[in-house]
Amino acid sequence: RVVNFSAGPSAMPLEVLMRAQSELVDTNHAGMSVLEMSHRSKAFEEILSNTKQRLRKLMNIPENYKILFLQGGASLQFSMIPLNLLQKDHEAAYIITGSWSQKALKEAKKVGQTTVAATSEEDQFRQIPDFSQITQSKNLSYVHITGNNTIEGTRFTHLPKTDAPIINDWSSGILSEEINVSDYGMIYAGAQKNLGPSGVTVVIIRDDLIGHAPDGLPTMLNYETHAKADSLYHTPPTFGIYMIGLMLEWIDSLGGVKEIERRNREKASLLYETIDQSTIFHSPVKKEDRSLMNVPFKTDSEETDRAFLHFAASKQLVELKGHRSVGGMRASIYNAMPLEHVERLCEAMREFEETMK
Ligand code: PLP
Repeated sequence: RVVNFSAGPSAMPLEVLMRAQSELVDTNHAGMSVLEMSHRSKAFEEILSNTKQRLRKLMNIPENYKILFLQGGASLQFSMIPLNLLQKDHEAAYIITGSWSQKALKEAKKVGQTTVAATSEEDQFRQIPDFSQITQSKNLSYVHITGNNTIEGTRFTHLPKTDAPIINDWSSGILSEEINVSDYGMIYAGAQKNLGPSGVTVVIIRDDLIGHAPDGLPTMLNYETHAKADSLYHTPPTFGIYMIGLMLEWIDSLGGVKEIERRNREKASLLYETIDQSTIFHSPVKKEDRSLMNVPFKTDSEETDRAFLHFAASKQLVELKGHRSVGGMRASIYNAMPLEHVERLCEAMREFEETMK
């Protein structure tokens, strides 16, 4: 197998893939594959309930939050959030830190009044903007942030002080470090980076935010529908939920999010040190705001970038091309990536640098 630095869908732990393979034709001794199970069967309900309970335990999610497994990706949440939560005569505040928050804002604007509370666009999103001016507002339905910016490689390390619920698109950060869930009104994430295969979106939402959707909102777009039916209003992404369950078991077996965070910090420090010590590679991102998950880096020439990508590929280090809006390289080093794989990348960077001398 190659070393896969894809931003998503991304590398999964080999143990998890092997386990899924070994259980594929007979899952949990049900005499059938999870792919064949009715979502109303006891066997699947057990999978769903175990997955939910383990996520609750690992993230320390209080009882007054619902965990929902939805479809439509994080992108559908860009619409569902304002459709459910943006009240009449209120505004939704967005902190704009990159392409994904811009997309979230674009959808909210179609639904109601929005305001840009802070943005780092003028700085090409190389840092998290100062958002200290956000305070209480009677007319604010919520404040939306993108906790980890997959493309730009930044991450929030503290939160706005506001009494409006904070909503975090944590697609590329979920389970990567310890957080206090009660600091948020809602956290959501497409599964395909840190949680499992694409096709499932996890929504963690505080009870009091459910049930205020305007009349006429299509049933499937209403959080209340999914909360009341425990994610079984319609056929949920059953295989995806099962895979998330295996990923969570794997995280649990390593020592939970605390240990995952320790590993992630170790991997990220090693890579950033290698970049900072290099004479040809540099990081565009302000030090304090650097992501633990997505690490963009560049040389001073596109030609050298291309040569490095080619060199890396010859060493089985793949999917390192940066997003087209940023250029250069990007290494996504999610939970599943072991330290040894990051070490191999750092070694290749040093070797490449030698060949440039
Ligand atoms: N938000 C962030 C931070 C992302 O990284 C992505 C995908 O990469 C999305 C949203 C969109 O997710 P999806 O493709 O599940 O709609």
